Amino acid sequence: MAAATPMPMLHNLGSINLDHVYRVPHLVTPGETLASHAYAVGLGGKGANQSLALARAGGRVCHWGRLGRRDAWARDTLADAGVDVSHVSLVDAPSGHAIIQVDDAGENAIILYPGANHGFDGATLEALVDTAAPGDWLLLQNECNGLAALLALAAERRIRVAFNPAPMTDAVGELPLSACRLLFVNRTEAAGLAGLPVDSPSDALLDALATRLPDCELVLTLGAEGAWYQAGGERRHQPALKVSAMDTTGAGDTFIGYYLAALQRGATVPDCLAQATVAAALAVQRPGAAAGIPTADEVADFLG
Ligand code: ADP
Repeated sequence: MAAATPMPMLHNLGSINLDHVYRVPHLVTPGETLASHAYAVGLGGKGANQSLALARAGGRVCHWGRLGRRDAWARDTLADAGVDVSHVSLVDAPSGHAIIQVDDAGENAIILYPGANHGFDGATLEALVDTAAPGDWLLLQNECNGLAALLALAAERRIRVAFNPAPMTDAVGELPLSACRLLFVNRTEAAGLAGLPVDSPSDALLDALATRLPDCELVLTLGAEGAWYQAGGERRHQPALKVSAMDTTGAGDTFIGYYLAALQRGATVPDCLAQATVAAALAVQRPGAAAGIPTADEVADFLG
């Protein structure tokens, strides 16, 4: 009997951030020194969250990332979840991190420092495309440097790219996006890329994106309104589950990780959308981004 073909690997060149969360009576005002009554540090960054979601979903994911030397625990957390961390380097630079204040009303204010996430060099990007086997995927977000060079290399080597342009910046519009086979956008990212107002109807957003990226499958997520899939002439809607959301941070990252893991297993588009939707609905009912990402067993239990 022929040996089973291994699942294609997904290489995620993505941010790893340390989220420092301070509970405060109100958001700090200019010149004020304010005591925080609770503090917690956790793993974050869109790249790390998406790798974690992929691994929890049973996907094969190799994370390419950079962390300050003192923060090896963050790499261990990814490894414990089943992420291949052989290309996560510990470097002499501060790790990317977020200083997050959350006040008693749940309002937040965030300082984000990219740190080591912005230190990728050309040799690492070359090493990534040299490592990728035919059929492998490359996953990118917008929290690391080197995207333009990597997208150009991926196009040259015909590596399939899944791209989540988050957080959206003007620079995304300048990127060579022809290598993208799959684009994941929320409303803000879709509007930014399409050059349309953020409250545009979903059809207008999808039409504009399809014109801009005709060879790319599009997944537009709209929070509690669910998600749209668009490819060629096909457009389908996947409703979200009706749940009581308590923390929607990381909903998109969970959705993307679960969608891609299902795709790796050869699932159909409706199945990828269904798995991703259940996983994201479970995540929004729990606190934290990385901490709220469910396991494959929890998603399977829900689907019955
Ligand atoms: P992002 O976190 O990138 O802004 P979205 O808010 O669009 O992404 O959420 C991604 C997916 O998570 C949605 O398509 C939906 O399936 C799920 N989701 C998000 N918010 C809710 C919610 N309030 N109730 C149920 N599902 C949700």
